[in-house]
Amino acid sequence: MSVLYCPACDTPPDPLDWRCHACGAPLELRDQPPFAPGAIHAERWSMWRYAASLGVEQRVTLGAGMTALVPLHPGDESVWVKCEYLNPTGSYKDRGTETLLSYLASRGVTSVVEESSGNAGASMAQYAAHGGLRARIFVPENAPPGKTRAIAAAAELVVVPGPRHYVNDACLAAAVDGTIYASHGWNPYWIIGQQTLAWELWEQLGAAPAAIVTPAGQGGLLLGIARGFRALHAAGIIDRLPRLYAVQPWACDPFVRAIESGAAEPEPVIAQRSAADGTLVGSPVRGAQVLAAIREVNGWAFSVAEDDLLNARDRLARRGFYVEPTSAMTLAALPRVQQHLGGADGPIVLIATGNGLKAPS
Ligand SMILES: [Zn+2]
Repeated sequence: MSVLYCPACDTPPDPLDWRCHACGAPLELRDQPPFAPGAIHAERWSMWRYAASLGVEQRVTLGAGMTALVPLHPGDESVWVKCEYLNPTGSYKDRGTETLLSYLASRGVTSVVEESSGNAGASMAQYAAHGGLRARIFVPENAPPGKTRAIAAAAELVVVPGPRHYVNDACLAAAVDGTIYASHGWNPYWIIGQQTLAWELWEQLGAAPAAIVTPAGQGGLLLGIARGFRALHAAGIIDRLPRLYAVQPWACDPFVRAIESGAAEPEPVIAQRSAADGTLVGSPVRGAQVLAAIREVNGWAFSVAEDDLLNARDRLARRGFYVEPTSAMTLAALPRVQQHLGGADGPIVLIATGNGLKAPS
């Protein structure tokens, strides 16, 4: 089984720490099992077909994973849409929620708190309900109503008025007496669930794609995909790593600024309002790692204007993909991705992260 450690100071963490208790750095996992194609449970139609390569015991699942991969234009296999919005609670967050809550449940945790304005909170609420855990989800007062309804349907919704950091303060203050802060931004057990997206793409395409385009807020999805493909490469299953492209709205684009300036770490930005509410993260927890993962594979980061992402949302809907505006940023950035790739052979995959049903109109 995988083991938590602190990459910054190597102080051994407690198993339920959400960050290093000595230096405050984000924790990581070591001794993860290698990817073993022979150990795939082909009869399991969920992300747990890769259980042997995850290093976490399945405890809480609603059957995330094995989402459809569909050509953007029928008959044209150059651009694909990975329909992560078809996961059980309507977003890609479910893969990480399944590994994180499974780990916490295996440690005897029965009560969690999380802060979120959207998909992560809805995912945590519904999975905790299914797994028999108590969950309280802290949200800002301007959180999208479609998402807060999904949270309140399954868990205790706590609306925190005032500046955004009040939400964080209130959430942490509630993480006492055995209640655990189950943070999708901080906990590395969340990221390992996202590796299964890479493994599925390899199974569905029969090879690694040339490029993957994903919206980025914390960047945990991109990191998980990068680690998943690295595991395939280390196992000798693929001979190239896909190029990774992060897309952010103009309203909040710390990765784009850092990629353009060459900085090793993103400078914090103050998020402005945007319909791409899933990516409004001004200070990503693992910013340096996300930038390094993009650079390692000669990827890039692009920002998208508000009009362009709304236009792309409508274009995707007219192609049958009813996604939230955050997800549509990938299509808006596609021409720039294609130009940056310069005709590299192989398909491009757009990750459609969230369902349009939960998005504000
Ligand atoms: Zn430390």
